[in-house]
Amino acid sequence: MIKLIRRKFKTLFNLVYNKPIGTIYMLHRVHPFETNKLSLNENMKVTPEFLEQFILERLDQYEFLSIDQAVAVLEKKIKLTKPFIVFTLDDGYADNYTYAFPIFQKYNIPFIVYISTGFIDRFSLLWWYQLEDIIINNNSVKLSNGMCFSCESSTEKESSFLAIRKIILELLTIDFDNQLRELLSHYTLNFGKYSEELMLSWNQIQQMSKSSLCTIGAHTITHRRLSELSKNELSKEIIESKIILEKKIQQKIVHFAYPFGTSFEVNEQVVDAVKLSGFISAIYANGGVIRKQDKDLFRLNRTMLVETK
Ligand SMILES: [Zn+2]
Repeated sequence: MIKLIRRKFKTLFNLVYNKPIGTIYMLHRVHPFETNKLSLNENMKVTPEFLEQFILERLDQYEFLSIDQAVAVLEKKIKLTKPFIVFTLDDGYADNYTYAFPIFQKYNIPFIVYISTGFIDRFSLLWWYQLEDIIINNNSVKLSNGMCFSCESSTEKESSFLAIRKIILELLTIDFDNQLRELLSHYTLNFGKYSEELMLSWNQIQQMSKSSLCTIGAHTITHRRLSELSKNELSKEIIESKIILEKKIQQKIVHFAYPFGTSFEVNEQVVDAVKLSGFISAIYANGGVIRKQDKDLFRLNRTMLVETK
């Protein structure tokens, strides 16, 4: 009997205090799907139609909040009667401006773009698009380390992309750019083309930041795995990206998103460095919702918004 009462009490306690109160969604790109592209890159997109429909279906049942408002909810400064949704977009893709921004404006929906400044300053390498084109345009791909990958059928292209991507992600983070260029040295590389075509310009970021709907957040300079950096490199990535953004948009930058955003890339030292750098929130990319008892604003959970094709 006592056991039963205890169990019932525990269920009731969980229902009240462990209750999901909102979801922070992670997006990268908002863009139509393209044919003859590889699925891993395409999976970073939701289409504009999907995003609009997703919003429309939730307009009545949810509160759409900015990250500042979500923080205020967690700090108990705002009380809501409905669950909330926050839209976040990572890295700084140009389609955030061309496709997502007009949709958010149409429905008056707040959003945050977490910018990795090296993409906007055009020196970080969008290697996953360069690699995609190499694989699409060749029947086999040879790396400088001698490894060869067959890319004749679309299935082979997909599996070779996955295998080479794994090799690239395992490259040491120090001197990454040179190692990557060396690995793909059999091919003509034009990383600048991808940054120019796919990433936001400072002008577009400035225009969005003038809207009361848009918040700009920091996402480091070079988008490396922060857990592998020295203390100096770590604070440079965190503090300098904040300073660069603040200079460009003339606003305080107080929200941060950890690159890659799983426990593999985010350790205690990384969280502490962000806390000490003048931010008020930091966000993971590990799935999960926001619950009533979530109090750690530097370990906010986030769920990827996925469009099933
Ligand atoms: Zn990112």
